[in-house]
Parts: sequence; C-alpha cells; structure tokens
Amino acid sequence: MNKPIQVTRSSMPDFEEYTEEIKDLWESHWLTNMGAKHKQFEATLLKYLNIPNITLFTNGHLALECTIAALNLTGEVITTPFTFASTTHAIVRNGLEPVFCDINSDDYTIDVDKLESLITDKTCAIVPVHVYGNICNVKEIERIARKYDLKIIYDAAHAFGVTVDGVSIANFGDASMFSFHATKVFNTIEGGAVVYKGEKLAEILYDIKNFGITGPESVEYVGGNAKMNEFQAAMGICNLRHIDGEIEKRKAVVERYVERLGSIKGIKLVRPQTGVNSNYAYFPVVFDGYKLNRDEISEKLKAENIFARKYFYPLTSSFECYKGRFDVEKTPIAKYIAERVLTLPLYADLALEDVDRICDIILNYNRASNESNLEAAASLSRI
Ligand SMILES: *Cc1c(COP(=O)(O)O)cnc(C)c1O
Repeated sequence: MNKPIQVTRSSMPDFEEYTEEIKDLWESHWLTNMGAKHKQFEATLLKYLNIPNITLFTNGHLALECTIAALNLTGEVITTPFTFASTTHAIVRNGLEPVFCDINSDDYTIDVDKLESLITDKTCAIVPVHVYGNICNVKEIERIARKYDLKIIYDAAHAFGVTVDGVSIANFGDASMFSFHATKVFNTIEGGAVVYKGEKLAEILYDIKNFGITGPESVEYVGGNAKMNEFQAAMGICNLRHIDGEIEKRKAVVERYVERLGSIKGIKLVRPQTGVNSNYAYFPVVFDGYKLNRDEISEKLKAENIFARKYFYPLTSSFECYKGRFDVEKTPIAKYIAERVLTLPLYADLALEDVDRICDIILNYNRASNESNLEAAASLSRI
C-alpha cells in the first residue's frame, strides 16, 4: 500500500531556520503578550498584504469572533452556509442571528443577486466567505452595504495572498479575517489575523484579545484571551519568507489536476476568476452526472490510502447544534453543491506523480491500463 496522502500537509520552514528564529526567546524569556516576534511579524505582514492595519490572534476563529464583537452589532447578519463551522458559530456566539443567503454555482461564494432580498430592518452586517480562495463579488457587496448602511466582515480564511486586479484581497469591507491554521496556505501553526481600515478598531481589537485590559489598572471591555504567542509569530516570520514559492508549487499541482480532469463529462471544476491571482488554496471538484458519485469517489480514494474531504459538507445550517432553526431548502444551490463536492489533496509538496495517481483512480484508468497490459502481453505472445 502506498503511503497515505492527506487532503493537505502543512508547509514548514527548515528546522534550522525555525530554531534560529526562536533562539532570541531563550534570551528574552518573553514568550507571549505582544513581544518582539509579534511586532516583527505584524510589520512584515502589513508590507506583504499592503494594508494599513492588522491585529494578530491565536487563531482565525477568535479573530472573527472578536471582530464581530468589536463592531458592537445587534440583530441579523447575512452570511452563507457553505463554509466552515467557524463562520456561523462566530455570528451565533456573538448573540446575532445568521440569515443564510444562497451561493452562486460558479465560484460558490455568496450570490449577490439574492443578497438584497434578505435585508430587513434588523440586518446589521454581511459576513461573506471567500470560499477556497475564490473571491466574492466585492464591488457589488460594497454597493449593497453602503446603500443599507451595513458592516462587511469577510471570512478570508482561505484567501491569504490573493489579489484582485493587483489589489490585495485584504483591502475590502470593514474588516477581513485570515486564518493561519496549520492546514491553510500560510500557517503560524495555529493563528489568525484581522485586517481593516479604521484606526479605532485597532485599539478595541487589541484590548478585546487581552481581557479588555487597557492599562495597568484599567479594564474597559469584557474581553477574552486570543493573543498570538511568540512561537507562532516566529513560525509566521519563517513561513512568510517562502510563501510565494509555496503558492507557485501549489499552482503546478492545480494545473496538473486541471489538465487531467478539466474536460471530463460530469466533473465540474471552478474556472479561474478574471483579474484574480489565486493562492490555490483548495481543489474542489463537483461530481454531477459522472459515472460515480462523490461518495463513491471518496471511498475509492480512501481504499488507496488517499484522503480527500467533503468540504463543505454538511452545510453549517444543517448542523445538529442548529437543528430545527434553519431551512436548508432556502439555499438550494449550497445544498446541491455540498452533496456533490469533494476537495482533492493539494499542498505545495504534493508530487505530480501522486496527482496523476489520484486522477487515474477518479478516471478509473486502472482497469483500462490492466486491459492495455493484457493487450500488450497478448501481442507479445503473438510475436
Ligand atoms: C479555517 C477556517 C476558519 C477558522 O480558522 P482557524 O484558524 O482554524 O480558527 C474560519 N473560516 C473558514 C472558512 C476556515 O476555513
């Protein structure tokens, strides 16, 4: 049996590079609470993302949860159910009501044509998701939000490093959250960040992630603890040095997949978006009318020690914890895609031979190649 291939594999710097980076910590004994590594990492990220403000967090989820809290919202938030648990939970854990908008069937982001009809006098914000690194229709979302005076908080967990017409995706909406989880394109082991325009949010976020402490003897907010520590920041400093190369390697993997699966009937891939420089975060494949369905393909791969993921399935609106609360029939496209999508293994160091092997299994070439081997053997015996 071949060695297992997981859906992803964390990018890591060389061992020596990381140990060199953390050496200072044995001198300073400053392990967390916005130390030197934290400051350095913040500065390099600001430059890389070309944005004015950033606040680092211990993970992406708390970054999103704290941002929603910092904006002091009440009422309803329009979002999509075709996402990771985090997006919906962050809204609900802030005492807000998620209102689910359907996705579009081209790139699986929020369907801006359906968004406006869901706005009520209780709507306070929109939390769209840049799914798989596909970019939402940021211009149209901006227009609608302006018209109704709504906040926009992007779940950009999948979109680190993506640019649109040369502009970093970090520049849209009131705020965007990135996840630096081990499974993401860019990681700090666990980690996350929020980027935003207003200086005011900077102060609040800084306090909220540190118990609401605003001075040695003053606590102004009911904050929590969501600080990024120095070891995480050091990992980020190292990984950021290699990010462009990592994305290039992912691109080669994706190109091979597209070459092999791009023109197969019943297999639907996401078309590249115009003007968008992708980070190749995920490789979703929708099996719709193919000879095998999504679950069968998933099992076939598993039997060969290859672990694709049904990402995103189930929809967040159908989680047990939300039972009876939302109607999945109101987002029919999200439901349809969730039942048919499989994200295939994708990481920088995934060998192209492995991509071929995965594609062979999906395309059922095994049997074909056995047959051609038999044919070859038969023709040899004829000689
Ligand atoms: C990973 C992810 C998150 C949460 O980020 P963590 O860093 O794991 O907390 C939120 N939303 C989406 C869409 C994600 O994929």
